[in-house]
Amino acid sequence: MKNASTETWVVHGGEITQATRDLAPPIHPASTFERAADGTYPGKHMYSRISTPAYEQLEDLLRRLEGGADAQVFASGMAAGSAILQALRAGERLVVPRAMYWGMRNWIVHFASAFGIGLAFYANDDLNDLEAQLAKKPAKLLWIETPANPTWDVTDIQAASELAHHYGALALVDSTIASPALSRPLSLGADFVLHSATKYMNGHSDLVAGALIAKEDSDFWQRVRFARTHAGSVLGAFEAWLLTRGLRTLFIRVRTASSNALRIARELGRYSGISHVLYPGLPSHPGHGVALKQMEGGFGGMLSVRFRVGEKKARDVAARLKIFKRATSLGSVESLVEHRASIEGPGTLCPGDLLRFSVGIEPVDDLLMDIDQAIEARC
Ligand code: PLP
Repeated sequence: MKNASTETWVVHGGEITQATRDLAPPIHPASTFERAADGTYPGKHMYSRISTPAYEQLEDLLRRLEGGADAQVFASGMAAGSAILQALRAGERLVVPRAMYWGMRNWIVHFASAFGIGLAFYANDDLNDLEAQLAKKPAKLLWIETPANPTWDVTDIQAASELAHHYGALALVDSTIASPALSRPLSLGADFVLHSATKYMNGHSDLVAGALIAKEDSDFWQRVRFARTHAGSVLGAFEAWLLTRGLRTLFIRVRTASSNALRIARELGRYSGISHVLYPGLPSHPGHGVALKQMEGGFGGMLSVRFRVGEKKARDVAARLKIFKRATSLGSVESLVEHRASIEGPGTLCPGDLLRFSVGIEPVDDLLMDIDQAIEARC
């Protein structure tokens, strides 16, 4: 395995380490571990909120996938984001994109005001605006989400990370949508990668998990580790096992979802009732050029459309879809559709005429047939 590619490591779920030579790793549910008579811990672990064998193989895989020095799994993507926020000190400043996952944006705004963190917003695809925000006052951390919910705006990771470093900030990329199958932010200069591992990393809509990967050890990373241990946002042993299993098919799932999404995005352009098809794989998308540069093997399974005829028609189309399931979340094997504005609720920044599709790995002709029967009669 030593010289094998990361993809082979992931397909194998890591190195076989058990004396019994299991091809599927065991589940380690223990919360506590025996101490030797001399007071040491021969099994290396003391208490599973602090460290557990349940994460060892998984965190090693995540670290390899992103090319980092260390990885931590969390109880959810939000918990991973919270650990980053908890690592900030009152008075430090955070620069975040205008378009990003709604739940994280709300939590950041709430957290920043409650804990005295300075906050500035930048337009996702405007490096001049980003530089202006970074130059205004010293910032501790730049937050990037690319492609970003729900319009899939693309941020140039390399250029944005360089700007962050130039102004003395660290750069974090929420790479949930691209996943390491398509993009490796640490190799483009970012310091941290965040995943809602609930999505593509697991891929089966059967667990909630998060992950952070650090390019190198640092004081800030140690603060993040401290936050997980002490805030206690740890993942269950069974979820860690499920996530390790889901990861084994990451590349094949993401490639299939990406090629399905590209085909669907192209076909959606044919419907006169649709005013915008938002997908970074289309040359018409403003972020296409940057996406080509920093995504390899596809543009992901997420796309959105906007309807000329407005919100009611968007909701009607969602109601008529049969194979695409009406459900929140994304990145699973089955295709989903969401009317984001009504999911996000009052105060949403999402246009009411927008439907968000998480394209799965079903045969693409089935998905196209479903879209056609739902849209044709409506637009
Ligand atoms: N980041 C992105 C881009 C997401 O889409 C989500 C959830 O939808 C999260 C973070 C939060 O992850 P979780 O739901 O696992 O807490």
